[in-house]
Amino acid sequence: MLKNTGIITPEELENVMPPRARLEKGPVAIIECLQDLPCDPCVSACPVNAIQMKAGITDKPQLVFDTCTGCGACVPKCPGLAIFIVNMKHAPGLATLSLSYELLPVPAKGDEVEALDRSGTAICRAKVVRVINTPAYDRTAVVTIEIPADRINEIRAIRV
Ligand code: SF4
Ligand code: SF4
Repeated sequence: MLKNTGIITPEELENVMPPRARLEKGPVAIIECLQDLPCDPCVSACPVNAIQMKAGITDKPQLVFDTCTGCGACVPKCPGLAIFIVNMKHAPGLATLSLSYELLPVPAKGDEVEALDRSGTAICRAKVVRVINTPAYDRTAVVTIEIPADRINEIRAIRV
């Protein structure tokens, strides 16, 4: 489990993955935050109140899947780099995954990077299709890569 290995298990992932029907509608967040931490910037970052913490700041964030628009505003605000956006409607057989990236160099649109799983193992090459790196994000770039649609549960990092 995450607590022992630092890597989310398939069972833990099932609890935070949007349902298939919501994934098929387009971009949506996946919040892989499973511990009761005193942390909540994701809640105030969301313009549509799709992230809830009913028991206060140490509660785990709960995403209201049908309210989330997949805008990505919460991604760079998470200090745990635990929020991802997946878009299953990107192209036939392909999805996009947006993730926080705090290393240098920051890749550019059009670059090819290695897509990694949660343990750092390379899964495939991936094309960078968008990079947002504005002062408002305070040096946390949000990088969007194109990945095989059947790897959305596995790919969670990149190597430039
Ligand atoms: S992706 Fe946008 S709408 Fe969805 S939870 Fe994050 S901030 Fe809210
Ligand atoms: S900001 Fe990130 S680490 Fe903090 S509660 Fe939200 S998802 Fe978890």
